[in-house]
Amino acid sequence: MTELHRLEGGHGVAVPLDAGSAIEVVNTFGSQVVDTWALGRSDPSEYLSMAQTRRMLWKLVPALGDELWSNRRAPMLSVEEDTSPGVHDTLFDSCDEWVYASYGCPPGHRSCKANFREALAAAGLERDGVPAPFNLFMNVPVRAELALSLEPPVSRPGDLVRLRALMDVTVVLSACPMDVTPVNGPDLAVRDVHWRVVGPS
Ligand SMILES: [Zn+2]
Repeated sequence: MTELHRLEGGHGVAVPLDAGSAIEVVNTFGSQVVDTWALGRSDPSEYLSMAQTRRMLWKLVPALGDELWSNRRAPMLSVEEDTSPGVHDTLFDSCDEWVYASYGCPPGHRSCKANFREALAAAGLERDGVPAPFNLFMNVPVRAELALSLEPPVSRPGDLVRLRALMDVTVVLSACPMDVTPVNGPDLAVRDVHWRVVGPS
């Protein structure tokens, strides 16, 4: 088991992951949403696609044992472990400068989209455009009449998701800086999460 790394609440990180290795994302305090992306290492234009994943799984939310698919319909990751109640989101795009502006926040508020770019730049990578993320622990209930709402996470402190790489990828995590809506809990508090790379099984 490798070292557990802290990801500061509101910040992002890019992690190279070889095929066969896995990343564990630990919701240390239970209430933090983690926007999660994967890009192909040999060609970053191949990316983890929520639209393709929904189509390939015939459902809205991947569950334990499911594969997560790329925009080229190739399996990129598998959900190997999930100790949370399994409530995640594939529908909402990541937060950005414009959503904070719409809430009246002053310019400069951190965002998941900016975190994606910053994390890639710190890893020496760049990419045009930010794909829609897999929002770990994000609670977006789909009502009977197909209306959507945004509720606090139902995950618990220490819940973790382990994603196994099925190809060489760069995984990007963003501990979402949203502190206006209750997406990160009813107290609107952004909190640290932790992650670690786990070797081939
Ligand atoms: Zn966010």
